[in-house]
Amino acid sequence: MYKLILLTFLTGCGTINTYKNVENSDFMYPVKRFERYYGKKVDDIDIKFDNLGAYRSWNTMGVCSFKTSKIKVDMYWWRHIEYLKYKKEALILHEIGHCILFRDHVEGVFEDGCPISLMNKNIVSNKCAKKYRDYYIKELVEG
Ligand SMILES: [Zn+2]
Repeated sequence: MYKLILLTFLTGCGTINTYKNVENSDFMYPVKRFERYYGKKVDDIDIKFDNLGAYRSWNTMGVCSFKTSKIKVDMYWWRHIEYLKYKKEALILHEIGHCILFRDHVEGVFEDGCPISLMNKNIVSNKCAKKYRDYYIKELVEG
């Protein structure tokens, strides 16, 4: 009886505290997908919306602060490309690459013009992100 109560208590704790710093449920799918390949949970990850000025430059869609491991996503850009689900996934995975795996940018493209890594300095297109989806996440985790 004592064991049963303890187990219930621990399970309850874990559920309440899981991913409390992930602001939008849209961010969860890439995080869960990353965890499957990474083999570890990253439930202390911090992903929030911010205004990064992406509407002007169209290149700062997300940032990762190395010291705090916090990811910020430009809210305007995210809403503007609502229908580009693979590109959105690529953005979150790219920032996870910086924040969790401490990866730097990787240059190079395939013959079809798609980058060889999600860690390309520009977030990969929706088309490329879809075409190389399984390859990209393996490359991200395995390097
Ligand atoms: Zn980057």
